[in-house]
Amino acid sequence: MADHTPAPWHACTAEEAVARLETDPHRGLSSAQAVERRARHGANRLPQARRVPPWQRFLLQFHNPLIYVLLAAGVATVLLEDHVDAAVILGVVIVNAVIGFVQEGKAERALDAVRSMLAEHALVWRDGERHTCDAADLVPGDIVCLASGDRVPADLRVVRAHGLRVDESALTGESVPVDKSVEPQAAQTALADRHSMLHAGTMVAQGQATAVVVATGEGTEIGRIGTLVREVVTLATPLTRRLDHFARQITVLILAIGALTFAFGYFVRGLPMLEVFLAVVGLAVAAIPEGLPAVVTIVLAMGTRAMARNRAVIRRLPAVETLGSVSVICTDKTGTLTCNEMSAVRVMLPGRVLRVSGAGYTQEGAVHEGERTVDAEEDPALDALAACALLCNDARMAEAEDGSWRVLGDPTEGALLVLARRAGLDTEARLRASPRIDAIPFESEHRYMATLHRDHDGHASILLKGAPERVLSLCVQQADGTPLDLDHWHAKVAEAAQAGERVLALARCDVATDTVALARADITPRFTLLGLVGLIDPPRQEALVAIAQCQQAGIRVKMITGDHAVTAAAIGSALGLRARHALTGEDIDALDEQALQTRIQDVDVFARASPEHKLRIVSALQARGHLVAMTGDGVNDAPALKAADIGVAMGLKGTDAAREAADVVLTDDHFATIARAVYQGRVVFDNIKKSLLFMMPTNFGEAGVIVLAIFAGLALPVTAGQILWVNTVTAITLALALAFEPGEAAVMQHPPRAARAPLISGALAFRMAYVSVLMVAVTFAVFQWELARGHTLEQARTASVNMLALGEMVYLFNVRHFTAAAWGREVLTGNRVALWVSAALVVLQLAFTYIPAMQATFQTAALDLKTWGFIAALALLKFLAVEAEKAFWRTRGVHRM
Ligand code: ADP
Ligand code: MG
Repeated sequence: MADHTPAPWHACTAEEAVARLETDPHRGLSSAQAVERRARHGANRLPQARRVPPWQRFLLQFHNPLIYVLLAAGVATVLLEDHVDAAVILGVVIVNAVIGFVQEGKAERALDAVRSMLAEHALVWRDGERHTCDAADLVPGDIVCLASGDRVPADLRVVRAHGLRVDESALTGESVPVDKSVEPQAAQTALADRHSMLHAGTMVAQGQATAVVVATGEGTEIGRIGTLVREVVTLATPLTRRLDHFARQITVLILAIGALTFAFGYFVRGLPMLEVFLAVVGLAVAAIPEGLPAVVTIVLAMGTRAMARNRAVIRRLPAVETLGSVSVICTDKTGTLTCNEMSAVRVMLPGRVLRVSGAGYTQEGAVHEGERTVDAEEDPALDALAACALLCNDARMAEAEDGSWRVLGDPTEGALLVLARRAGLDTEARLRASPRIDAIPFESEHRYMATLHRDHDGHASILLKGAPERVLSLCVQQADGTPLDLDHWHAKVAEAAQAGERVLALARCDVATDTVALARADITPRFTLLGLVGLIDPPRQEALVAIAQCQQAGIRVKMITGDHAVTAAAIGSALGLRARHALTGEDIDALDEQALQTRIQDVDVFARASPEHKLRIVSALQARGHLVAMTGDGVNDAPALKAADIGVAMGLKGTDAAREAADVVLTDDHFATIARAVYQGRVVFDNIKKSLLFMMPTNFGEAGVIVLAIFAGLALPVTAGQILWVNTVTAITLALALAFEPGEAAVMQHPPRAARAPLISGALAFRMAYVSVLMVAVTFAVFQWELARGHTLEQARTASVNMLALGEMVYLFNVRHFTAAAWGREVLTGNRVALWVSAALVVLQLAFTYIPAMQATFQTAALDLKTWGFIAALALLKFLAVEAEKAFWRTRGVHRM
């Protein structure tokens, strides 16, 4: 029996594993096999974290202090046999729950859609070719390639590994990366020690590997534990929590005022119990800003969607609101600020400087010395350098359908391939003549790449290319046989760097013919320098514009690059950064925390910086009170991305590790996208404030009318049922409009909002109080005027309710701009939703006033034209009064509240 149980994957050899899975370690599965296995094993996906089912979400809507107040009132009205009011209250309760439910659903769907934009990918061999595929499509037997920073997409058995270390903390809790290799282990080895296995959900920290998929989806270790990797969408953010807290405080205050009003009305004024009770319920319901959290959620979700449309995908909702307060953006250079379309323009050989012509990745172009074109065939020095550029290279050129050429891989290396062709090398023949035996890939920390080659005569050599300081320190002589003239070469590097060129040095060294492997220990000072290559990578025009915008908005932009200080400074100043005192990684190492905090104030360019420097830069800036956004792409950038207030990962060139650590992922890697996301973050924050600015005083106004009437001993201008009506219809119409508000013109002309600034500023509080008073005043005016004209109480109340509704409607158009004047067409056309909801409100109010069933339920009566005229005139006056207040703030230089 025991013979039939196959050995566990970690205990068999790589060959056995591959054989058992019926796959080819070099070609992968065929498409037919993949399709068949996909049908058998299903998608490589873990079950989604279970969502709260819809009925439960609906019931949760009733878990809310406002609803409790209403339900208590409902019970009381039923006991008192006031069936009409009981029905109205029940209606309000249900409408409220439905609104909350629908809004929440909408927000969740918006966030889900954004999230699905971040599907995971895997590099897999199929039909003998390497493809990028959706990680969900992996099947057992697939041969997968992994490199540092990749997330392991399924459970894999290692087939080949090179310096492989994996961070398995997601699975085992062990935070130190573990070494992995192809060697099989004993069958009973514990999960954490299975060094020949890679498990889904873990992260490659270093090195590269080829591995075969042994289990997918729920069959993986992590699937079996039942861990749900995908976080559930949570709609709570610090701001919504702050608002929730605020809403709760307000609720308590309102309930206290309600109790007081009740006591006064009942005991002092001797009003009938039921009437006062209902009035106080109406007051409480009107005043509690129950819709606020929902509106804020909608604003955040809308913002997230707008950002995603602009290619910034939000991974964590709080980032949406934090983005608006960013005061420093630290950004990569290559590809983010620059086009990432490198081309070699200068070749420096011992004693000679050559120029390279030709644009982009086209075949045209050549190498020139003065007036003469140089061909590698007749120029051994150029030939040696071009061969190194070609062979010590991981990029490939691919011809697109339209005949243009595209680089697959690192653009720096692509440019070197093109250089080899322009120098006249027969690239195919050369690649065949000197096959690669082994390689050390480029890593930002080491700043070089090396490859080991053996030609058909058996000669073996190491080719090296990398940052000049690195490579020069490893060279002992020059290609012309003379000793290395360091000063000369440093001068050449500086010359090219001043022109904004990225400089690479190329070198070579012969080694024993039996060498079969290459390790960092082999890279010792014994190389021969072949020469230098200068590459240009023009700055992006949009980046230039975006940096200027950020600076105008009081946001400092700091460029952090691995490139040479002089190159970085040249590009930095071309982009409008203060580049005169660039700091290098070495400079940063020499500074202590305090000194760094001081220096960082007026430095915008950081060069030869590694991920640890990014981390120090972030903490120094944060210590200075800044809110920092930081970009990153490599595995080692993850700590800095996490430490930053907003971690921004590159979606195209970034690793899974960086993406996972980030709050925002750029799907186009452009700096301008970050700037736009900041803009949208500010708009989101503004819209939340505007929603607050709209809801609070309108709610207070509605409630104030009742409080005033009871305390002043006047007849109630609106009944309890009527107040519930206005409160509900305005909540489902007007209150939503501000979520769709486009940004104001001046959004990027103010310094960033201080992160810890209070939500309710002085100006905001004043506006709320002012508008509340106006609301109460106009409503009372209409009510008294109607009574004075000899109209019935029903008519006067109907007029008051319409006054409240119309007063709120005009205020919506006031509030679209904090203090900018609401004149001109933009006020009407700028936010279409505002128009639609206003139209809807008018229809609802006409129904309320004229439909007999409504008249019976709410005790309303038809109004004459004169009354409407008076209401409209007062609404206009109120509108102008708020505009006057805005003008006052403008004269005081207040543009945001
Ligand atoms: P950046 O911040 O511009 O992306 P990198 O960390 O990619 O900087 O590169 C730092 C330095 O390493 C470059 O200035 C260059 O000298 C060298 N370098 C870049 N790419 C390669 C490569 N593919 N092979 C060898 N050296 C490289
Ligand atoms: Mg780079």
